[in-house]
Amino acid sequence: MTATPKVLYCHCAQAQVLPWATRNAALEQLCRGADFVAVPDLCVLAARKDPLLHALAGSGAVTILACHPRAVRALFAAADAPLSDAAQIVDLRAPVDHAVLTSLAGGSAAPRDPVQLAADLAGQAVESSAWFPVIDFARCTHCQQCLSFCLFGVYAMGTDGQLQVRQPDNCKPGCPACARVCPELAIIFPKHGEAPINGAEIRDADRQRGPAKVDISALLGGDVYQALRERRTQVQTRFDVGRNAELAAAERRKCLAELQQQLDILPAVLQSLSTSAAILERMKKKADRVDENAL
Ligand code: SF4
Ligand code: SF4
Repeated sequence: MTATPKVLYCHCAQAQVLPWATRNAALEQLCRGADFVAVPDLCVLAARKDPLLHALAGSGAVTILACHPRAVRALFAAADAPLSDAAQIVDLRAPVDHAVLTSLAGGSAAPRDPVQLAADLAGQAVESSAWFPVIDFARCTHCQQCLSFCLFGVYAMGTDGQLQVRQPDNCKPGCPACARVCPELAIIFPKHGEAPINGAEIRDADRQRGPAKVDISALLGGDVYQALRERRTQVQTRFDVGRNAELAAAERRKCLAELQQQLDILPAVLQSLSTSAAILERMKKKADRVDENAL
């Protein structure tokens, strides 16, 4: 059985978030005798919990050349293969110290052609966009705001009370909206262009900016449901469903416009939300049920 190399290089062939000059510089040094494995897209490997990640994580002092360290650690954790503290992550998304790269060269492996290897990696088909959130569990407080916000069932709570990214494939490619509502800046989309959503270190300015102020409850018509709950306890008063429903629909339209502008939610994602008519219908049914129970 061949031993797993201690170095992994990600070419980010699909999203190409790594500057090409940095990728070339890294490959050039690695191909000078380093024992390394090169993959076209580490995110894809994490999505399918690839055994290679388990083997690497089990090797202790490995070196991973990919994107921001927070993102890389979260990706390995998402693959149930958390990296140890001994792992070294070389951030190819940021300016790299040349000495770090040269220290990786000069091993006993056969030299390889970096240009050919780059072409091979770029040519390897990647089966999906591998766009999904990974969680920085050092920051997550399991508050469930992301779970409440996401309408596509991406998040769930485990029986242990911990947040899980239960259905990553349900995530809408290009949509980073839940990361913007997380109060702890704990949600990472490694392929996103913007820090700190992409896993870059969190700066004071990011903390001060805070999560997006979006009234999710109003978006979902929750204000009306709350009104209905209150009415149930008061019972005898007639409830003007039509008026409250119209207000909720107007509020929802306002929230959708805000979402599109502030959270850069894709139109395709917004289109897959319930229509105002569907929400009104649900509220009407709910009000009818409350009326029946009140009799
Ligand atoms: S986002 Fe990071 S981990 Fe994912 S493919 Fe690109 S470099 Fe690799
Ligand atoms: S919103 Fe952020 S802190 Fe809250 S559960 Fe989700 S990831 Fe964790």
